[in-house]
Amino acid sequence: MSNRVVEGRMVTPESLAELIEDESVMEAEDIEDTDRDCPDCGGDVISVGYMPSVTEFVTGYKCQDCGWSDTDRAE
Ligand SMILES: [Zn+2]
Repeated sequence: MSNRVVEGRMVTPESLAELIEDESVMEAEDIEDTDRDCPDCGGDVISVGYMPSVTEFVTGYKCQDCGWSDTDRAE
């Protein structure tokens, strides 16, 4: 099981990726722990790799305690 609790709700890799992306994703890998702390609240940050489209692979980061999220996309 790689489901985690984020902001009090159980998420799957797919639903976590959709939280980060704010839209549906094609595919998501397992959720992983990171060494990062949330810059907003200091909470634990988890990561998930996903494909928002066939040509793109993104690693997304999400705080488990608040709404903060980030990706490794180049600006
Ligand atoms: Zn946070």
